[in-house]
Amino acid sequence: LSPVPSDIEISRAQSPKAVDVLAKEIGLLTDEIEIYGQTKAKVRLSLLERLKDQPDGKYVLVAGITPTPLGEGKSTVTIGLVQALTAHLNINSFACLRQPSQGPTFGVKGGAAGGGYAQVIPMEEFNLHLTGDIHAITAANNLLAAAIDARILHESTQSDKALYNRLVPVVNGVRGFSPIQFARLRRLGINKTDPGTLTEQEISKFVRLDIDPSTITWQRVVDTNDRFLRKITVGQANTEKGFVRQAQFDIAVASEIMAILALTNSLEDMKERLGKMVVANDKKGEPVTAEDLGVTGALAVLMKDAIKPTLMQTLEGTPVFVHAGPFANIAHGNSSVLADKIALKLVGEKGFVVTEAGFGADIGMEKFFNIKCRASGLVPSVVVLVATVRALKMHGGGPNVTAGAPLKKEYTEENLQLVADGCCNLQKQIQITQLFGVPVVVALNVFKTDSPAEIDLVCEIAKQSGAFDAVPCNHWSDGGRGAVKLAQAVEKAANQKKSFKYLYSLELPIVEKIRIIAQKVYGAQDIELSPAAQSQIDRYTRQGFGDLPICMAKTHLSLSHQPERKGVPTGFILPISDVRASIGAGFIYPLVGTP
Ligand code: ADP
Repeated sequence: LSPVPSDIEISRAQSPKAVDVLAKEIGLLTDEIEIYGQTKAKVRLSLLERLKDQPDGKYVLVAGITPTPLGEGKSTVTIGLVQALTAHLNINSFACLRQPSQGPTFGVKGGAAGGGYAQVIPMEEFNLHLTGDIHAITAANNLLAAAIDARILHESTQSDKALYNRLVPVVNGVRGFSPIQFARLRRLGINKTDPGTLTEQEISKFVRLDIDPSTITWQRVVDTNDRFLRKITVGQANTEKGFVRQAQFDIAVASEIMAILALTNSLEDMKERLGKMVVANDKKGEPVTAEDLGVTGALAVLMKDAIKPTLMQTLEGTPVFVHAGPFANIAHGNSSVLADKIALKLVGEKGFVVTEAGFGADIGMEKFFNIKCRASGLVPSVVVLVATVRALKMHGGGPNVTAGAPLKKEYTEENLQLVADGCCNLQKQIQITQLFGVPVVVALNVFKTDSPAEIDLVCEIAKQSGAFDAVPCNHWSDGGRGAVKLAQAVEKAANQKKSFKYLYSLELPIVEKIRIIAQKVYGAQDIELSPAAQSQIDRYTRQGFGDLPICMAKTHLSLSHQPERKGVPTGFILPISDVRASIGAGFIYPLVGTP
């Protein structure tokens, strides 16, 4: 329709097919799905075993140029592209998307179901509780938080013997260690299997984690932007005997458990990663893990359904997996490895799986390659780089773009000079993609205010800058039909020879890995570490975590650390204020900026 109705009107005007019908269409067996209502189903991981000999389809990543705060349409392009492939070109395809957090959904950003005639439906189901995965993460996260404080309290108020009786209870008249406890005993160098034979000294070593409360990094979480919980004081009841400490609530999707859900390959792998999560240090400076607290099994059981991707559909009835939604700053901002793996089997060798990386290519795509592809072992075939005329004009010196405010005339009237000047950002993001050896197709997401000359100019510059192809896309106004040219270009690019490579080797020291990302991707002259960052790097290296990949927490609004610097900033020194780690998820995350 013209004018294009609102996203919610479009979503509600289309009746989705029943999810069991969709499941059958894409080759799922009845016992491989668990239906939630009429339009959503979880897909069981047993499918991977059934299809293990089936070759994978082609793997396409949608990334973007440095965006305006409004978003440039990566989700919309992802959905438009699969609609074009499946519904218009008759090529099996799947979109794999992140589940949005309720924080941004009820904030400035809004939902993440795409937009216009390129959407996942029903939009409300997609954006809100879906199949409860975020709630499961919240439950698991907070169980671990409770276990930390309870352990500190019990260790401070009880004798070794009393602690021992609590931790190793008598079951059916026999006192026995659990497998987790056996593992802990082995780590402590105590090679005994009979609880009756432990010496007093060994009992004391076994029962005391000696957590240093000032080093606790594990926070409670809630899936709401609740500012007043950002700093809290816990332990104020009389029963907590003075164990008062400052703590905080984070948003649920910032939990390391979300990053684990996104990176895991199987139930066993998830359990192992959950156990490895470091929550604090002990008084000797050694890491304390979820496994040390004895809660790995409980966390895994709380997550047993969340590990299954959720099947939904686009407006044109093509399949979509929604699974995991880690943030793109303190985490890697990509949907799940498992959804991609299952989808790659379901589409067959000639099919396409299209997945999206959060933020600009300098952040989401770099993490997709260096973190997600390392975890999955999957090799991408094509990168689709989304650009808009409005973001390019901003990079060319156009006025600030602010959410909620009307766009200034530079953005609504033709201005070829601003577009030409801003294409430096597109060019740089193309070069970043090429560092990984994957062909790049530029998708210019067309807005109704873009002029034909502006559209031609962007496509021309993109091709001159090394893109395999560059095409205007009208999926927002026309649905899959508007992205057929993009789909054809992606199909052609996927058949190109590629020589995918990671940007850095894991064996390099942490500082070197950070420097490579800063210089080669962001264009920084060098990096500058604060004393706190240096001491954390030293600590993680000493603790044996030095060979993990790096997950930079940087603004997405500039290639540099300063959001107001648009285009391609040069000559800057990237400050690293602190360095943290998600050991279970498997990455070190430096915080970029000044403290
Ligand atoms: P991203 O994934 O890059 O953050 P989205 O795909 O979520 O961006 O799009 C951001 C918003 O912009 C959505 O509300 C979407 O409906 C709108 N949008 C995207 N493309 C267009 C377009 N071509 N014309 C008008 N609005 C668009």
